[in-house]
Amino acid sequence: MQVVKPGKILINNEWCESQSGKRFDVINPATELKLTDVAEGDAADIARAVKAARQAFESGPWKTMSARERGRILNRVALLLDKHKEEIAELETLNNGKPIHETRNADLPLSIETFEYYGGLADKIHGDTIPVNGNFFNYTLREPAGVVGQIIPWNFPLLMAAWKLGPALATGCTVVLKPAEQTPLTALRLGEILLEAGLPAGVVNIVPGFGPTAGAALVTHPEVDKIAFTGSTEVGKTVMQLASSHLKRVSLELGGKAPNIVFADSDIDAAVNGAMRGIFFNQGEVCCAGSRLFLEERIHDEFLSKLKTRVEKMVVGNPLDPQTQMGAQVSEEQFRKILGYVEKGKKEGAKVVTGGSPAQATGYFVKPTILEGVNNEMTVAREEIFGPVVCAIPFKNHDHLVHQANDTVYGLSAGIWTRDIGKAHRLAKEIKAGTIWVNCYNCFDAASPFGGFKQSGFGRELGKYALELYTQVKSVWVSLD
Ligand code: NAP
Ligand code: MG
Repeated sequence: MQVVKPGKILINNEWCESQSGKRFDVINPATELKLTDVAEGDAADIARAVKAARQAFESGPWKTMSARERGRILNRVALLLDKHKEEIAELETLNNGKPIHETRNADLPLSIETFEYYGGLADKIHGDTIPVNGNFFNYTLREPAGVVGQIIPWNFPLLMAAWKLGPALATGCTVVLKPAEQTPLTALRLGEILLEAGLPAGVVNIVPGFGPTAGAALVTHPEVDKIAFTGSTEVGKTVMQLASSHLKRVSLELGGKAPNIVFADSDIDAAVNGAMRGIFFNQGEVCCAGSRLFLEERIHDEFLSKLKTRVEKMVVGNPLDPQTQMGAQVSEEQFRKILGYVEKGKKEGAKVVTGGSPAQATGYFVKPTILEGVNNEMTVAREEIFGPVVCAIPFKNHDHLVHQANDTVYGLSAGIWTRDIGKAHRLAKEIKAGTIWVNCYNCFDAASPFGGFKQSGFGRELGKYALELYTQVKSVWVSLD
């Protein structure tokens, strides 16, 4: 497939070069070869983009357009994504390295449904009337937050753009979006679709570039009212500090180290499937990956032997082959980081059950990896590896488990495998995480909220909850005297 995408910056509905004239290379992680290059935005381009977004927010047709019409535009975006889904799935796979099976069946349908969902929600956003003391009529208005800066990562490039843009546009905000440096292509393709769908000029501006330049300029720009960030906890902390200069509102969706818990009374084969889905989906480059696999002691050996058999049959390789189950890691940096964690795990006493090495001579492929003999104190159990490496940790009983499951700085998600419904619901309450999956894993729906406890961040994306991120409430008092 030829990559003939704009490769430019989108400002005020026009594709332009960066002011510096610089461009940067985009790599196919499966071949290590250059796919294309893209204009490199920095502070000057962010300033132009924010100006366009501010103008569109204050005076353009966007401001006066009815919410229903905004919804129609979002629905057109969904239809256009659907129309071009095969081409966009391929583009995502080429740029990110994830298997085409997943881009076709997860990234694209979930992105489409996100625009559909917010298209439907746009005209259902409203305030309340509130009975107050005295002779007054009091009501609230739910107004858009304003100009929003959105910064997204490389693991689900299109889907993260959809999660950010859907609710922001439904509420009437305008946006400057910075995609990750590794994966700008589908965000730019989405830009073309936004234009085709009839989005007015300046409502969405897309500036590819690097974090410390374009990203930081967006976070510190005085005309940006709110920052929505998804990425590492480390950069999330920087973003929050930078945003404090103008007291911008911030929402953060950060890393995770999720417990995926298997009880002896579970359907073991289903749990083996769930453990695989939990860690190998998207090559483990998933913030809610089930990277700590807690196994009740008496099934520990049986479970690992079944898991090993299944893992060794996984098809790893060419991401464009529909049979492929695991593709390439996004970059050489990520590839090396993952293998570095495996070495660190071994040094601290973990044993490699299977995997632990590159899967091919060329491309950033890592074999699906199981580590056993891990305890919750080891680096591999504490830090986010963001790769296809699962750490098996045995547990004795309920209290031992809950303590360990919650003994992490993160709190994004958790999985629970048991046939005991009471136990499942009790644990669902006890685990400090934003999403709990019972006898399933990595399930998503545009209607259901997603976000973190603790250092996994704050704010909830998706569903009606995301409206909180992009609106502010105004209280209006009217004297009836
Ligand atoms: P990252 O550096 O946190 O990147 C996320 C986004 O923030 C990117 O668009 C990035 O730009 C931007 N950024 C970086 N520094 C910034 C700054 N000073 N100000 C504003 N924006 C900034 O994450 P990464 O480099 O892609 O991956 C590093 C680690 O983050 C991974 O190994 C993984 O553990 C974690 N991660 C978590 C998630 C998640 O969903 N929770 C997603 C991706 C990665 P650049 O593209 O130029 O870096
Ligand atoms: Mg980075």
